[in-house]
Amino acid sequence: MVQSAADRPPVLISPDGLQGLIDALASLGYRTLGPSIRDGAIVYDDIDAIADLPAGWTERQDAGSYALERRDDGALFGYAVGPHSWKQFLHPPIEKLWTARRGEDGSFAVAPPEAPREKFAFIGVRACEIRAIEIQDKVFCGGEHRDTAYATRRADAFILAVNCGEAGGTCFCVSMEAGPKASSGFDLALTELVDEAGHRFLVEIGSDEGAALIGSVAHEPANRSAIEAAEAVVESTAGQMGRRLDTNGIKQLLQDNLEHPRWDDVAARCLTCGNCTMVCPTCFCTTVEDHTDLMCETAERVRKWDSCFTMDFSYIHGGSVRPSAKSRYRQWMTHKLANWIDQFGSSGCVGCGRCISWCPVGIDITEEVAAIRATPAETAREG
Ligand code: SF4
Ligand code: SF4
Repeated sequence: MVQSAADRPPVLISPDGLQGLIDALASLGYRTLGPSIRDGAIVYDDIDAIADLPAGWTERQDAGSYALERRDDGALFGYAVGPHSWKQFLHPPIEKLWTARRGEDGSFAVAPPEAPREKFAFIGVRACEIRAIEIQDKVFCGGEHRDTAYATRRADAFILAVNCGEAGGTCFCVSMEAGPKASSGFDLALTELVDEAGHRFLVEIGSDEGAALIGSVAHEPANRSAIEAAEAVVESTAGQMGRRLDTNGIKQLLQDNLEHPRWDDVAARCLTCGNCTMVCPTCFCTTVEDHTDLMCETAERVRKWDSCFTMDFSYIHGGSVRPSAKSRYRQWMTHKLANWIDQFGSSGCVGCGRCISWCPVGIDITEEVAAIRATPAETAREG
């Protein structure tokens, strides 16, 4: 059960202490997942040891570009976020929803899938990613029809957060009030300190399980200078944001500008590839496929990630509701930043910047909003 960190004093651990946390989580039956380098990017994968983390690496991100670079220290978490998010584990890209089997009398019995067996320990979760998970919690568990597989995975997950010491070139979590410091929603939260006093982590404790885990590794109370150093790390990161998004009145702004000429401008650049939706930690659109065996004895329904950028996604009898790139980009951006607020009570964007870095033509959601804000409805029509 995740609680507030407010009344538990922070402690200090060494890199060996972090290894101890990973070992302890594994011995408790968690699948330990964290950042590692694959195919030239920092992705989330199985890790057993701190040696699996991208020590001494950072990344350079801009619209349509991402590259790893060496750091001049051995920081284990000296980068922002890559193309992966934790969504792939809590809301897997392919998931069986049910299986139907024909009985001897010819009738079908429908069985739900087996409950998830794995419990995940997410190591290195950023503040914006905690916010994204909380947004998906509302999507999958907030209404009348809960997604029981998601809810089970989520309830079992251990969150070891890391406050950001490095902002990505496309990050704007400060604008979305989603980072760079995790204030809740974690079991443990680390701030990595690499300075003349050595390489260590300030650890905030957010849950009983986190407290028990810390009790299993060598630690010491955090002194004032370590607490101040950790505060300086996140303050410096907040000052390095690569992007900014003015959210003032954004819902009304976008809902009032559905015919703004900027939608044609962005449509001329957009490839409708759907990359932005695949990398986004809050996008949740899916489709279903039904499969039947050749003997017609067994049928199953599988849910797969989909994207509002596909024609099929809005296909109803007779055609697609959103046949143009303009209508699909507009749907995505206005849903994310405006209609999401009507639907779920918050923005659907946490300012992680992934959709900007991983757009092959470098379309930048912050730039698109700024362009509409600069020439809102009446002015745009006159022009
Ligand atoms: S905005 Fe970029 S990433 Fe998204 S669909 Fe268009 S081209 Fe692809
Ligand atoms: S819309 Fe873009 S910046 Fe916002 S959460 Fe999704 S990927 Fe991140």
